[in-house]
Amino acid sequence: MKYISTRGQSPTLTFSEILLGGLAPDGGLYLPEAYPQFSDADLTTMRGMSYADLAFAILSRFIDDIPVADLRDIIHKTYTAEVYGFTRNGQNAADITPTLKLEDNLYLLSLSNGPTLAFKDMAMQLLGNLFEYVLTKTGKTTNILGATSGDTGSAAEYAMRGKKGIRVFMLSPHKKMSRFQTAQMFSLQDENIYNIAVEGVFDDCQDMVKAVSNDAAFKAEYKIGAVNSINWGRIVAQVVYYFKGYLAVTQNNSQKVSFAVPSGNFGNVCAGHIARMMGLPIDKLVVATNENDVLDEFFKTGVYRPRGSANTYHTSSPSMDISKASNFERFVFDLVGKDSAKVRELWASVDNGGAFDIKHLMPKLADYGFVSGSSSHANRMSTIRETQKKYGVVIDTHTADGLKVALEYAKKNIPMVVLETALPAKFEDAIVEALGHVPERPASLNGIEDLPQRFTVMKADAGEIKDLIAKNV
Ligand SMILES: *Cc1c(COP(=O)(O)O)cnc(C)c1O
Repeated sequence: MKYISTRGQSPTLTFSEILLGGLAPDGGLYLPEAYPQFSDADLTTMRGMSYADLAFAILSRFIDDIPVADLRDIIHKTYTAEVYGFTRNGQNAADITPTLKLEDNLYLLSLSNGPTLAFKDMAMQLLGNLFEYVLTKTGKTTNILGATSGDTGSAAEYAMRGKKGIRVFMLSPHKKMSRFQTAQMFSLQDENIYNIAVEGVFDDCQDMVKAVSNDAAFKAEYKIGAVNSINWGRIVAQVVYYFKGYLAVTQNNSQKVSFAVPSGNFGNVCAGHIARMMGLPIDKLVVATNENDVLDEFFKTGVYRPRGSANTYHTSSPSMDISKASNFERFVFDLVGKDSAKVRELWASVDNGGAFDIKHLMPKLADYGFVSGSSSHANRMSTIRETQKKYGVVIDTHTADGLKVALEYAKKNIPMVVLETALPAKFEDAIVEALGHVPERPASLNGIEDLPQRFTVMKADAGEIKDLIAKNV
């Protein structure tokens, strides 16, 4: 399997060659030359497979430059009940992504039972093991530099802690994350994890990462890597649970299923799009946004209009507070018939702070199954309350966004599967506001806020982070 850039002006590479990188050199995103196809007979074979076997059946079609036995080992080591053990509501941890039936044809797909209680663990844990494998094989090392407002940073650190050849330098805004998120990250004592609390906001952290990445000499000398949401390895790992969810709620392959996806950078739902392109019988892909509704606007009007960080709202579903959707370019590449010149033309305006209008492609959009909606804070609060009252299940604010929009598109005869992207324990304050009590927390995480914390406070200055990396590498 060869990988090409959406902008058509980068070298064609293998999976291992794009694994450690971010953007393609031409500014585009890497995608497989063609999506592997799964037939009716393939789907039938997949029924009854364990999560790890299913992941191997899918990922081995995308990854052909790691020996089969090694790939199988890496996948089986990743997807275990031990790693994804924070189940609730009587679910079986061995399912890795168990479904929870709310009512006929309405389900939650639990993707947040991993170590940091958010769906990002699904892909990031695999990435940690793949990185270590590829680096060990090639005798290389990498220093991952990232910025986080909470979920990405913790998922990356729990995936990379203790891994050979890898250091993580994670910038977060000082005193701006929730107490739980701060404790999750800062209580890690692993020597290869560096938590840096920046005196500023999330955008300052991101600007520091950009400044370092734009310094090509520094980047090369210190082997700076990234695990941000455009990483192809993360997208492809997420394809697996769409298959798992589909198989869990159907009896045969003539049935269709819809998925509702709380969306920010379009990484999660992009994996759903790819699953659909691979032949999974998906009816609708419901893109759910919060008040930062750049994607909802696009799917309703055909106009893509990123907002800029100054116009990004801080909401009660903070992991979806984005100004632009980094992975969206991957879908648009398919939408315009893999015409990379067209993608370059569209992003020439976006990359300069502008917008584009492809209204004329609206009829084609329907062929891809996409529909969309958004939620307000009040919507999410009432959805959390209703879900508790009606089903006795507590959901977090991001999942509430997904469920709210899902119900706008639910059909009587087609299962609707809402992706649970975080556990409520991660966003306690919002749950207290909605329900008047703190949500249940996995027992092993009780008192995590009282553990000793390990972090460095720093000014919002790219020079300082470069010094710190240089000193520790
Ligand atoms: C990251 C995140 C999202 C958004 O996912 P994208 O892949 O960026 O669309 C939604 N919910 C939670 C809890 C997240 O951590």
